[in-house]
Amino acid sequence: MKTDCDILIVGAGPAGLSLACSLAGSGLDVVLVEQAPLETLENPAPDGRAIALNHASMEMLEGLGVAQRFPPEMISQLRKAVVLDGKSDYSLVFDSGTRNAGELGWLVHNHAIRQALFASFSDREAGRLITGVRAERIRPLGHGHAVSLSDGTELTASLLVAADTRFSAIRRQMGISAFMHDFGRTMIVFDMGHERPHDGTALECFFHGITVATLPLAGKHSSIVLTIPSHEADRMMAQKPEALARDVEGWLSGRLGSLELNGQRHPYPLVAVYAHAFHASRFALIGDAAVGMHPVTAHGFNFGLLSQHLLSGEILRAHRAGRDIGEQALLARYDRAHRLATFGLFHATNGIASLYANDAPPARFLRGAGLRIANNLPFFRQSVVARLTKGLSPQPARRPF
Ligand SMILES: Cc1cc2nc3c(=O)[nH]c(=O)nc-3n(C[C@H](O)[C@H](O)[C@H](O)COP(=O)(O)OP(=O)(O)OC[C@H]3O[C@@H](n4cnc5c(N)ncnc54)[C@H](O)[C@@H]3O)c2cc1C
Repeated sequence: MKTDCDILIVGAGPAGLSLACSLAGSGLDVVLVEQAPLETLENPAPDGRAIALNHASMEMLEGLGVAQRFPPEMISQLRKAVVLDGKSDYSLVFDSGTRNAGELGWLVHNHAIRQALFASFSDREAGRLITGVRAERIRPLGHGHAVSLSDGTELTASLLVAADTRFSAIRRQMGISAFMHDFGRTMIVFDMGHERPHDGTALECFFHGITVATLPLAGKHSSIVLTIPSHEADRMMAQKPEALARDVEGWLSGRLGSLELNGQRHPYPLVAVYAHAFHASRFALIGDAAVGMHPVTAHGFNFGLLSQHLLSGEILRAHRAGRDIGEQALLARYDRAHRLATFGLFHATNGIASLYANDAPPARFLRGAGLRIANNLPFFRQSVVARLTKGLSPQPARRPF
């Protein structure tokens, strides 16, 4: 039966755009529906997020012609990550172990990722884009789905993919439930210039009631990530820039010298989401709509990229073999592979985030003990580093930056 397109993707965020780019040139007719206007996709505004990308993600973005577009001032190397319990000098250190062995990953401004993805999508003519319109209601057709849009039109597709945020309305309409955990905390992110160099080191300092992380950006700049109880967010958003800078200097015990706020603060309430299924009949979930991570282990978009990589691989294999791209077995294989890759780290991340949000004395004891135990388990540190630095292929391409 004829449909208006082969694949309809709801949401042209980083996950939706990267899926369309992965399918470019296959001959499949792909349509993307995005509620935001076209200008927002072409020129996304800074949102304060510096995204830590691991080696596999960087390879995927190179393969899609995206990483080559990152302006040099939007990307920086992550060489080392140091975890501290409060102001104690005792630390848990993750680095690549051998000298000059390269970086753990890269930090790229989220708006630069979105802009580069959109440029690549446009250059590759990766699909038809409908902007400024919401996907509203889904009607199953048997051979696909009909999706009605907020402008009154309807589109039919053999395969529907939802990439419409962790609070996915399409997921809900498809009857897929999700595990959700509201941490009752808010992350406030902002850029700060500093006196001392960061040497490519990220710091994560856990205090009672507050976590302070610094992510190294290009030059003497870091993205500062404060995790605080949500009832304190308004006060911290309104705090005078100088007072905020003095507070952060104090939490960091002067490690970066004196600090200066650059630009705006951006608040993000923390809710982790894990869909109970990543597929249904002729339907798949990708990106945050499938797995919405707590940002503390910096895996949200890395998992989003993995989801589109796994799904597009299945679709392209079926299409080349002349098979149905919406077949149940294909979608079930994608579901299994993505679940296997994400389930453990999703729950481990929630466990870590909850432990560090809890100020009861046993939790405080466990935190201090945890750092020491982890430090004495070299295989633990090695496996965390291996997870970050493992590429898709044994011989990653030369970096274009
Ligand atoms: C503070 C913070 C720090 C982070 N740090 C990292 C990190 O270091 N490393 C990492 O890997 N990840 C990180 N992440 C996670 C990362 O930002 C997300 O995983 C990623 O942006 C999700 O992309 P997405 O495309 O799935 O969803 P989104 O970016 O939420 O995009 C969804 C799109 O769908 C559109 N949409 C929604 N509903 C509809 C509808 N009905 N019709 C049409 N369009 C619709 C929206 O307008 C939006 O454009 C961080 C997140 C935060 C909040």
